Amino acid sequence: MRIAVYPGSFDPFTNGHLDILNRAAKLFDYVIVAVLVNPEKKCLFTPEQRVDMINAVLGESENVRAVHFHGLLVDFCRQVHACAVIRGLRAVSDYEYELQLFSINKQLAVDIETVFLMSSTQYSFLSSSIVKEVARYGGDVSTMVPQGVDAALRGLFRSGGGTKK
Ligand code: ADP
Repeated sequence: MRIAVYPGSFDPFTNGHLDILNRAAKLFDYVIVAVLVNPEKKCLFTPEQRVDMINAVLGESENVRAVHFHGLLVDFCRQVHACAVIRGLRAVSDYEYELQLFSINKQLAVDIETVFLMSSTQYSFLSSSIVKEVARYGGDVSTMVPQGVDAALRGLFRSGGGTKK
């Protein structure tokens, strides 16, 4: 069984993330979306909310599931017996950070491979930050995120939410 981990903040999960995940799910037997719990980072949704939202989007899909994790990514990969980490690449601007992440993970765990998938053209300018920015000011993000995420954003901003940041 070849298991891959797709880590990130996913605050919130976008159609760009979903595209990478669906494509990764064709390459591996099982893909775990690993929502990073990072108290240092101000997020709109709690890790639990993000995991629940992603799992609701995934529905009954057999070989993909979201969980949250904290600590080192390579430790989490070992824990779930993953052989690879999935990352998405959009523009050149992603490259430097991703290369750094790759190098560190390779140093810590030489046996865990990182697989980069290029963003599909229609999602190459889509980011969680852009989605939050547009949604915060009442803009329509329904083409940028799955339906459940759109509903959660509407709920949050309609109620004057967005507790952190
Ligand atoms: P981070 O891990 O930096 O907090 P995110 O949670 O936003 O970033 O994204 C997780 C992963 O998904 C990263 O590899 C990121 O480059 C990738 N990604 C984000 N948005 C897109 C997109 N629109 N298309 C393809 N990949 C994306």
